[in-house]
Amino acid sequence: MLYSVTNLLRTQENIPLAPLTTFQVGGPARYFVEAHSEYEVSEAVAFAFARKLPLFVLGGGSNLVIADSGWAGLVLKVAMSGVEFEGDLQKMVFHASAGENWDDFVALAVSKNCCGIECLSGIPGTVGGTPVQNVGAYGQEVSETITRVVALEIATGQRVELKNADCGFSYRSSFFNSTRRDQYIVLEVSYLLHRNGEPRIEYADLKKFFAGRQGKPSLQQVRDAVRSIRQSKAMLLVQGDEDCRSAGSFFKNPLVSAAEADRIQALAETRAPGITMPRYPAAAGQVKLAAAWLVEQSGFNKGYSLGPVGISRKHTLAIVNRGGATAKDIVALKEQIEKKVFDIWGVSLQPEPVFVGF
Ligand SMILES: Cc1cc2nc3c(=O)[nH]c(=O)nc-3n(C[C@H](O)[C@H](O)[C@H](O)COP(=O)(O)OP(=O)(O)OC[C@H]3O[C@@H](n4cnc5c(N)ncnc54)[C@H](O)[C@@H]3O)c2cc1C
Repeated sequence: MLYSVTNLLRTQENIPLAPLTTFQVGGPARYFVEAHSEYEVSEAVAFAFARKLPLFVLGGGSNLVIADSGWAGLVLKVAMSGVEFEGDLQKMVFHASAGENWDDFVALAVSKNCCGIECLSGIPGTVGGTPVQNVGAYGQEVSETITRVVALEIATGQRVELKNADCGFSYRSSFFNSTRRDQYIVLEVSYLLHRNGEPRIEYADLKKFFAGRQGKPSLQQVRDAVRSIRQSKAMLLVQGDEDCRSAGSFFKNPLVSAAEADRIQALAETRAPGITMPRYPAAAGQVKLAAAWLVEQSGFNKGYSLGPVGISRKHTLAIVNRGGATAKDIVALKEQIEKKVFDIWGVSLQPEPVFVGF
């Protein structure tokens, strides 16, 4: 037997999951446990194995759509905390436990004057969630700084150390959410950051924010700017702002060939002469399209509603729960948008959040 079961684990039954997610939808977990140590993580896996229960690993619940029927197995909430760091005057490596709040961790790095993740300020969720979809925003991705992911390989019970190249990072993807999906529990992530380095100000919104200001902004000023821009788009969790009752951007920006991008641009011009479709160079000669533009050009504007769900009043790419919504309502709007975008533009949008229990 790979795992041993003891009676020490404090499992709970029929725990509502909606309050544990930023969307605030979804049914209960048949069994639920919060793990505060690696030992408790192993115990929880043993519990699931012994009862042949499907296991779902929960971080901060900020990238999830949980089914109205909930999860029939065990939900394991990763709650290990602690950050250690080592380094010299130039470089610092931060080893952060998976259950640490991501934005608190960014704040800590910035307070130590270490750059490399400042543009990822204000993203909700946990440290452990960041390698899963290679979290990115405002010109940075965690794959640029992650040096090591310590994880529990569920099938073998082995604690493994994965290097950056092992994780298969690409745009909003890693092997944790693709080829090796549901096979690992992230326990700790190490990030290599640079002391006293220059903050990255490459993204258009950030450049605009600092345009005309004297001198170079500090790391802290860049962090504050990112949080302020995010707040204006309801991409920062702010109490009382119902536009952030979401999972952030609902669709990934499509990656297409240059020829496909030209086709869509030509189509756009037949619909609105002179219009320019946003397009950005991406890896391997591909072109990244703006999902928000496609959604808008398909007739879905900010504030659009479909029953208790809708599109954020501040961001076209965020589907929001306006209060009392179900997962079924979210899926109905998702499908309506996907169909219209495909019918008009021939582009299949891919959702960014993880669908649980469907
Ligand atoms: C307002 C808002 C703004 C957002 N902005 C951005 C953004 O700018 N950029 C961006 O990339 N994302 C963004 N997101 C999405 C989300 O915050 C990130 O994807 C975040 O990293 C998810 O982490 P989490 O801990 O909440 O994971 P969860 O939502 O709990 O889980 C997401 C997935 O990761 C898995 N997972 C979580 N923790 C672990 C672990 N320890 N081990 C193994 N698997 C695990 C889960 O099983 C699930 O498959 C936003 C979300 C919201 C609500």
